[in-house]
Amino acid sequence: MYVHDTIAAISTPIGEAGLGIIRVSGDQAVDIVDRIFRGKKRLKDTDTYQARYGYIIDFKSGKKIDEVICLLMRSPHSFTTEDVVEVGCHGGIVPLRRILNSILDAGARLAEPGEFTKRAFLNGRIDLAQAEAIIQIITSRTEKGMEIAVQQLEGGLSRKISNLRQKLIRVLAHLEAALDFPEDEIEGFSEGEIGKIISEVISEVEKLLKTSQTGKIYREGVRTIIVGRPNVGKSSLLNALLREQRAIVTDIPGTTRDVIEEMINLQGVPLKLIDTAGIRDTEDLVERLGVERSKELLNKADLVLLVLDVSQELTDEDFKIIEMIRNKKTIVVVNKTDLDAKIDQFQLQKIFPDQKIVRTSMVEEEGLDELRDAILELVFQGEVVSTDETIVTNLRHQRALEDALQSLNKAKESFKANMPHDFVTIDLKAGVEHLGKITGETLTEDIIDQIFAEFCLGK
Ligand code: GDP
Ligand code: ZN
Repeated sequence: MYVHDTIAAISTPIGEAGLGIIRVSGDQAVDIVDRIFRGKKRLKDTDTYQARYGYIIDFKSGKKIDEVICLLMRSPHSFTTEDVVEVGCHGGIVPLRRILNSILDAGARLAEPGEFTKRAFLNGRIDLAQAEAIIQIITSRTEKGMEIAVQQLEGGLSRKISNLRQKLIRVLAHLEAALDFPEDEIEGFSEGEIGKIISEVISEVEKLLKTSQTGKIYREGVRTIIVGRPNVGKSSLLNALLREQRAIVTDIPGTTRDVIEEMINLQGVPLKLIDTAGIRDTEDLVERLGVERSKELLNKADLVLLVLDVSQELTDEDFKIIEMIRNKKTIVVVNKTDLDAKIDQFQLQKIFPDQKIVRTSMVEEEGLDELRDAILELVFQGEVVSTDETIVTNLRHQRALEDALQSLNKAKESFKANMPHDFVTIDLKAGVEHLGKITGETLTEDIIDQIFAEFCLGK
């Protein structure tokens, strides 16, 4: 186990709340809190997983700060595997800050962002993929996104990666033994078996990589832009979707006065709706934002909802917009079906031979279910993701898998071409190393520091 000093930080959100928690971890955690804790018994004489009621005093002045409940978790049965004391107090900023300061005065050091989780990692309680799952759980936007993260925290991805590494390491051991003793019959694998194992691992890595497409959807949400000429019903559509779906995030950075982004939860899929609501109904997207910005906005979108007004014949403006979104994944929303139709189905199918066309009436609230289904179908391209499948959501993991795949493919080529074994082992080793980056077995310290620096304070 690594030797560490004792760290402390506020672990709950800052702001008015009923309760707040300050977490202290390290060899000296119990001693340090005992210096400022006043209760019936000292923490030193308290059993693990027991809570003690009392109050915390200011280390310097000796003045009472707040009533607290201290929860004790003795090494190794704590989150960090070190001795941990969680001091629960009233949630306001003043008691939290004052107690934290008193703990620091009594001998602890202020924790860096992510340092608790980093210790859990360095002390071997969790691997890197699991540590990263913790950030993901904290920041997840939908239940489904959180389920995937919890699965990763439980070690789903880690086990898979570690299995693949083990297979490759066995092959490596065999090949290297064969290098040292070329004449001997090496027990274990035949040549054919080695080729087969490498191919198996390659196809497993490919399978994992395929899930990262879905992973990206859960990580970043689907950027969906609603376009159409003025008065076709864009705002009505946006409001209908927002009304029915729980909005998860109200303000997202990047929201400007021209363009508003709203997050909705579409059966677990975070949908980032990009609304041009800042544009008055008499103005048009291109006119207001300029051609460049409109194009940029459209380019960045994963999905376009094109709204048309069926009660009016298509105008030049409609065609101009249709032209702009030619190459985008588009769903055509034919709105105002409660009114007399001036566009017929045949004409629409000619203009949109490959696009899904959904007929809606915002006034009568019709067609929304069909629209939602159409969105989900287009997002997943018909691929159904089961909950217990391992899904790669982390960009860093995706990169590592891509690198591993490249090395393994090279190893496979050399092996098939009957190249000397050390040509094969070089690339196999690289593959093992790339896979190990995911769980953190083969990463340098500075990269690990960088990963944990992205955590928030107190985690
Ligand atoms: P936007 O300019 O594209 O955002 O269009 P709005 O959503 O502001 O709607 C323009 C007008 O059309 C409003 O008066 C809406 O009430 C009306 N409208 C929207 N959807 C429908 C619909 O399905 N049927 C009818 N009859 N009117 C609609
Ligand atoms: Zn509008």
